[in-house]
Amino acid sequence: MFEIKYKDGAGRAGVFEVRGKKLETPYLFPVINPKRQVLDVKEIERLGFNGIITNSYIIYRDTALRQRALERGIHALLGFDGVVMTDSGSFQLYQYGSVEVSPSEIVRFQDEIGVDIGVILDIPTPPDVGYERAERELEETLTRAKEAARLSRKMLLAGTVQGSTYAELRERAASGIAALGFDVHAIGGVVPLMEEYRFADLARVILHSKLKLGHAKPVHLFGAGHPVIFAFASLLGCDLFDSASYALYARDGRYITARGTYKLEELHELPCSCEVCAEHSARELKGLEAEEREHLLAKHNLISCLEEIKRVRQAIYEGSLWELVEQRARAHPALLEALRVLKGYSAQLERLEPVTKRSAFFYSGMESLSRPAVARHIERLSWIERRGAELVLLPDCEKPYSRTYRLASSERYHVCIASPVFGVIPLEIEETYPLTQHEGVATLDREQLAFMRRVIAEYAQRFTKVHYHISLEFLGIEGEAFDEVSQFRFAGGEELKLRALADYQLGKGAGEALFAGARAEYSRRTGRIRRAFVDGELVATLRASDGIVVPTIAGAERLLRLRYPRCRVVVAEEARQFAKEGKSVFAKFVVDCDPELKAMQEVVVVDESDELLATGTALLSAEEMLEFERGIAVKPRHRRR
Ligand SMILES: [Zn+2]
Repeated sequence: MFEIKYKDGAGRAGVFEVRGKKLETPYLFPVINPKRQVLDVKEIERLGFNGIITNSYIIYRDTALRQRALERGIHALLGFDGVVMTDSGSFQLYQYGSVEVSPSEIVRFQDEIGVDIGVILDIPTPPDVGYERAERELEETLTRAKEAARLSRKMLLAGTVQGSTYAELRERAASGIAALGFDVHAIGGVVPLMEEYRFADLARVILHSKLKLGHAKPVHLFGAGHPVIFAFASLLGCDLFDSASYALYARDGRYITARGTYKLEELHELPCSCEVCAEHSARELKGLEAEEREHLLAKHNLISCLEEIKRVRQAIYEGSLWELVEQRARAHPALLEALRVLKGYSAQLERLEPVTKRSAFFYSGMESLSRPAVARHIERLSWIERRGAELVLLPDCEKPYSRTYRLASSERYHVCIASPVFGVIPLEIEETYPLTQHEGVATLDREQLAFMRRVIAEYAQRFTKVHYHISLEFLGIEGEAFDEVSQFRFAGGEELKLRALADYQLGKGAGEALFAGARAEYSRRTGRIRRAFVDGELVATLRASDGIVVPTIAGAERLLRLRYPRCRVVVAEEARQFAKEGKSVFAKFVVDCDPELKAMQEVVVVDESDELLATGTALLSAEEMLEFERGIAVKPRHRRR
């Protein structure tokens, strides 16, 4: 069973429970050769791995090994108590064109030797083959998948998505695999893409497979065992990886880092402080006997892989996975190419993007403008009621903007920042993540300029008149230039601000429902709105860290005026009482919800007759909370008294 703990991008950090043993995802399985172990299994375990993958076909084909595996089981054979996953000979099929075992026989064998996660014997179709071949082999894989899914077994089973480099076939394969109830969804046939540095094609393969695989099962990207790709693949929602390269590269004298691979001869320094690199210099490593050098390199390589996996998990936890991916994309142009591919899949990625994170949005170059958070902001600008008839544009400055300029929007003037990262930032919503919580650069690149011009021109169309600060002349905005900011100075406007915040965060009309006639209470320390009242009743608080509107029970009642199922998470009858008592809402009890709901959004929890039970924070997006059988969907906040 798989459960999500933290999310960032389409990536998830979670727990995958395999027959009572738990893997923290994203997880990397070191590949063990059952005949020749460069690193001892005990050593691998000591480094912190509690799951390994080996090849069941190699064991099956070796009479002595097979006998021992059947008698003692795979765990005793390898001397490993953790999770053992096995591959099925699909790689050998790819390399030699045939294997001497039937697809159902090898699945049965994996189960018989006590494997924890087995894999079907799929047909690994290489990239760029003719469409007909790719389709034919995919149909064969699906037939085998159906057969395998029917076999009774104790182990978990992975079904593999094939389809070569054809988007349509990957989607068809993913739909077929998703329908069969496998425990793990694998994406196969990508090793040649990895080897040839075709990361843009790899991105498309993952994106199209993920589109139809659903969310509730862990996704294993087969054969992507190099740290340069972990952050990227995790961002797209891959949860499991396997690495044979740590050992294969070691044999070739190659040294793995998250920035790429070096030949040992090329290294003057060892840019790492793992136990191997701390105890040896580059020169010492070069001078060692082949066997010892291979052993030490394998150990360093595996630690290097593990380090990157941990870095990815931390990035998901703190919400900086996009930043990490953009950093990694600078390691090789092929990775940058892959990052640029994501621009075309912004809508798909936006659905899974949390609305607030622990860490700030860091601009790292023009690709940052294509992040879902930026596209989301621009879309949400249209959700805000346009109360001010005239647009006032000011240059970016120190945040909070309204404090620096000592300005607020009024009925007449809608005051905005011309932002090099978000295009336009209305002062009313500046506190909302990531608008205040972002860092950009003061010197603009050409792409930012074009982006600002486009967003501002489009936004300006909604207003009868545009005033822009004289320093923004370079943008070529149609309108009237001004120098004196104080002419737009205005006190009050708190209802306007509250309504804009609610519209922006919770959708069109939320401001009217929650804050019509609202009065604000300001923090004496920060001067910012902390609480909002309607007719003397507290309806919401504003979270200081990210400007999120947190409705009270009275506020939630007002939000229920919005058409069903807006802002709602609907719980099944059996969980009604728990929700009412202010307990967490588990995903398996969610029967319906606002289809536009995003992770980290504030929600209203209702029962099936739309009666208010509680409020809380959604930890998952709409589609995830409807699909998952495990884990928390809504963290409780207020309950109805
Ligand atoms: Zn090292």
